[in-house]
Amino acid sequence: SSEEKFFEREKGILIVISGPSCAGKGTVCRIVRENRPEIRLSISETTRSPRNYEVPGKDYFFVTKEEFKQRIEQGKYLEYATVYDNYYGTPKDYVENLLEEGYDVILEIDIQGAAKVRENYKEGIYIFIAPPSMKELRRRIEMRGTESAEQMEMRLSCAYDEMTNADDYSYIVINQDKNVAAHQVESIITAEKCRTERL
Ligand code: 5GP
Repeated sequence: SSEEKFFEREKGILIVISGPSCAGKGTVCRIVRENRPEIRLSISETTRSPRNYEVPGKDYFFVTKEEFKQRIEQGKYLEYATVYDNYYGTPKDYVENLLEEGYDVILEIDIQGAAKVRENYKEGIYIFIAPPSMKELRRRIEMRGTESAEQMEMRLSCAYDEMTNADDYSYIVINQDKNVAAHQVESIITAEKCRTERL
């Protein structure tokens, strides 16, 4: 009935989280997931080699360049981008099915990818996670120690460029403390879900 229509479960919300390498996006998203287990996190495919602590199928699906290119041809990606010489892509069917089923989905992707998603999902929520300072960002990248000196410099200079794009996002969350930052992200999602008008 038309009365019931009012109470029907809507489609899920697409939440796009970007920010420089080591701004702590991954950690913040993990905490958000722990606090709000009903939110789904999209798992990307990448041609980068796994870090020793990463679990295939949990952090990423690790694929070869050939596989990735084939999957681009097949239209399997919602968006994809080349980041630091490797391909990264968001699985299209997986994300669209979840949204259709009413789940909110987080994409943790770089700014190029976020810009592409924005073309098709104007109604998404775009959140930029920034480090408290460049000095702190350098400290975090050095501490993780997973990259070579050269790669570290590349990530740092990209990080600064990325910061200048923060204005394109609807929200910016400064990650000084990971729990505070996660709480802010959760609050943004809560507020967006209560909005009367979505774009
Ligand atoms: P990392 O190699 O440190 O895991 O990720 C490098 C960058 O790629 C990060 O900014 C991360 O958010 C981004 N990234 C991860 N998955 C995707 C994806 O599916 N698409 C795009 N465009 N970027 C991604």
